Amino acid sequence: MEDKSSNQCVGRIHSLDSLGTLDGPGIRLVVFMQGCNLRCLYCHNPDCQDRDGGVEVTVDELMEEINKYRSYLSFSGGGVTVSGGEPFLQYKFVREVFRNCKKHGLHTTLDTSGFVKLNAAKSVLNFVDLVLLDIKSFNPKIYQSVTKASIEPTLKFAEHLKTINKPTWIRFVLVPHLTDSPENVESLAQFVSKLHNVELVEVLPFHKMGEYKWEQLGYEYKLKNTSPPSLEKLQAVIDVFKQYGLKVLQSATGAFPCSAAPLYARQRPSMASDGLARQLP
Ligand code: SF4
Repeated sequence: MEDKSSNQCVGRIHSLDSLGTLDGPGIRLVVFMQGCNLRCLYCHNPDCQDRDGGVEVTVDELMEEINKYRSYLSFSGGGVTVSGGEPFLQYKFVREVFRNCKKHGLHTTLDTSGFVKLNAAKSVLNFVDLVLLDIKSFNPKIYQSVTKASIEPTLKFAEHLKTINKPTWIRFVLVPHLTDSPENVESLAQFVSKLHNVELVEVLPFHKMGEYKWEQLGYEYKLKNTSPPSLEKLQAVIDVFKQYGLKVLQSATGAFPCSAAPLYARQRPSMASDGLARQLP
């Protein structure tokens, strides 16, 4: 029997994009969740990070919006992607949204950093067709300096996805002088090549399209003097992944994980780049 109370579950959303083409197969309705427990130096949407920002919606309200687009999403071979921010911070809400999507036959994709407690993640994954897993670096020190968090939870999450054979795309942002060392790229490629559930690797060239948001929020953008990688550098990194037998997709636009576009109005975009140790959801 349907649990009506779970459809009244409330989540905080940053925005929706009804024409997403970068976050999974086909045309996607992308739900950008509000709140993130990482503080990536290159974050495209620092206004997604504050857990108290965004707008509140119930599962029913969100499903009403999603249902408006259902036929064209299905017709395009697409579906619904939940991104962020970090979706697992609101895992109960996300689980109910995905449960409803599956009831309506919609393909579901979850975009996450994997910085999550496995027990919280497991109940959501039951309703997820595809995971986009953002691995910011393989070297733990570089990971820490990019995100202000430990890589361990992400690696455990990746191993769990392998164990349950969940279709997964890996995303890696190539940032000159930060994530681009040959050792870092090679060790990531080696690790990913052992995950038989990984269908694709996306190498996303660093860009600064989100820099103005850092400025608007009054935060220091530490990558101000970093330029996007050259095409040669990008190709060299793609070749490393290919040498490990991985299928690689290069984003032509340089779009990032967690790149939100507004459909719901935003409220109170504020966040503290506080440098505190990050807590798992
Ligand atoms: S890039 Fe994504 S994971 Fe990193 S801080 Fe921004 S929203 Fe969070």
